[in-house]
Amino acid sequence: MDKLAVPANTIAVIQKYNFTFQKRYGQNFLVDPRVTARIVEESGVGPEDTVLEIGPGIGTLTQYLAEAARSVVAVEIDRSLLPILEETLAGYDNVTVLCGDILKMNLPELAETYNGGKPLKVVANLPYYITTPIVMELFESGAPVSSVTVMVQKEVAQRMQASPGGKEYGALTLAVQYYASARIVANVPPNCFIPRPDVGSAVIRLDVQEGVSCPGTDKKALFAVIRAAFAQRRKTLANCLKNAPELPYTREDVTAALQQMGLPETIRGEALSLEQFARLTRLLTLQR
Ligand code: SAM
Repeated sequence: MDKLAVPANTIAVIQKYNFTFQKRYGQNFLVDPRVTARIVEESGVGPEDTVLEIGPGIGTLTQYLAEAARSVVAVEIDRSLLPILEETLAGYDNVTVLCGDILKMNLPELAETYNGGKPLKVVANLPYYITTPIVMELFESGAPVSSVTVMVQKEVAQRMQASPGGKEYGALTLAVQYYASARIVANVPPNCFIPRPDVGSAVIRLDVQEGVSCPGTDKKALFAVIRAAFAQRRKTLANCLKNAPELPYTREDVTAALQQMGLPETIRGEALSLEQFARLTRLLTLQR
């Protein structure tokens, strides 16, 4: 089977099967072989690795992954793509296609079945309508995952990789950076897809290292502080924390913790790094 990652081959397959794109599934298929090759290269996938691909579509990226990896497990929600995948991946004996919603899959079980419980590498051109839930599920499911290299909306990639102080910095940045180190590895324009998305895209690589920058910090308490800090972006951090009904800290706790960190009462949450949020949380929980 010819490689699908050129417009003519993708169009031929789509016409042959009379496939109609489902907007609700975020279906934008890659048609640039440089991009597919680059994603695989940046993912670091090699002959030892088992890859979890989310949303193989017609199998464009899957073909490249199958050539680089030991094996590939690809989870696709759209049943109408299954006969297509059967044909386009027929030449590869190391690919398993599962039909289902990635958000409803038991990921630890999947890692156990297909990789003996060893860490998976996740590589995907993600459906943009559920990027954040998928990435958070990969981190929080308890499944062994060593890295996640994914195409996402450019703006989302920038939020994941942002530094304190900028407008892109927020709760998503801190959540992602709690679990992983994030690095944008490529920018991809709309003309690399059929159909063209309305937004620019970027490939981001997340190397999983849960909690390493927050030693001794209670994860639940940390995430509660971060959520409260960004619930009202225009307010000061002190006001957000003091007025958050879901936090158990008193106004005095908050003032004392900020003072101990040498931070002014006027500072906003967006100015604090993850390490500072972690220290703030430790001080607040110690005062309880
Ligand atoms: N990998 C292909 C490519 O690069 O050309 C297709 C990528 S397309 C952006 C996203 C794919 O994810 C589609 O095939 C879509 O049907 C699938 N998808 C959408 N929601 C999904 C879900 N919840 N679980 C699994 N796959 C999903």
